[in-house]
Amino acid sequence: MSKPDLKGRVAVVTGASRGIGAAAALALAEAGAHIVALARTVGGLEALDDQIKAAGSSATLVPLDVTDYEALDRLGAALHERFGKLDILVGNAGALGPLTPVGHIDPKQWDNVMAVNVTANWRLIRSLDPLLRRSDAGRAIFVSSGAATNVRAYWGLYATSKAALDALVRSYAEETRNSPIRANLFNPGATRTAMRKQAMPGEDPDTLPTAEGVAQHILTLADPALMETGKLFDARLGTFLDFQKPA
Ligand code: NDP
Repeated sequence: MSKPDLKGRVAVVTGASRGIGAAAALALAEAGAHIVALARTVGGLEALDDQIKAAGSSATLVPLDVTDYEALDRLGAALHERFGKLDILVGNAGALGPLTPVGHIDPKQWDNVMAVNVTANWRLIRSLDPLLRRSDAGRAIFVSSGAATNVRAYWGLYATSKAALDALVRSYAEETRNSPIRANLFNPGATRTAMRKQAMPGEDPDTLPTAEGVAQHILTLADPALMETGKLFDARLGTFLDFQKPA
């Protein structure tokens, strides 16, 4: 696993209050990046801040709901003013929603999962793409799921949202292919977090990889030397996968 030097780099991480997002933020901070940490839970962000400080790095805490799109627009303007660029964007915040037959999904829950998992990531790209273009090595990383392609009964809402995220990020990767930006998807695989517990309450969490272990792979995707774009990195395999193109 490559461990890049990220000193002087600025990284936005969404869903940084716990789980994979918090672990990714800490891993990026330990590699030297300044972290701009987004989530709704202030206590979780403050706990992350303590860990980042203990690791000798620094963070800016931004308590917000990623479905507050105007706040995401303001974030772009504020980061432009303070840093003038963005090197790393980790779109990790995610919502599972109900595991239920497609015909039974509550419309409010549909809207919320699509807003968090898809629209917020589009609004982040819309707001932050100009700043990623000002970096000499902009890295956009979005956390997807095996559920996007491994379709199962009752997971329709979450699967639809992650499949849409995949298409969004692959489109962005094509549009930025001739720039220094590299945009990829990350599939963590089953990971010991609150979301996994919500999905699989009967499972023994100790049988699962930790968020800290899984998040180390984010460093590969944040590496300024990375060549790959428009791909999916699978944490279980520790490698990039190509998306299949139709004949
Ligand atoms: P957690 O539930 O532990 O963490 C989710 C994070 O997203 C929290 O920090 C939460 O912060 C944030 N979040 C959720 N909704 C919002 C919102 N409206 N505004 C701002 N932040 C929000 O989940 P994981 O760490 O497991 O999941 C991280 C990513 O990994 C997700 O995209 C998930 O789909 C994906 N994933 C996870 C797998 C697993 O097995 N754990 C497997 C495959 C993919 P807060 O509540 O403080 O706002």
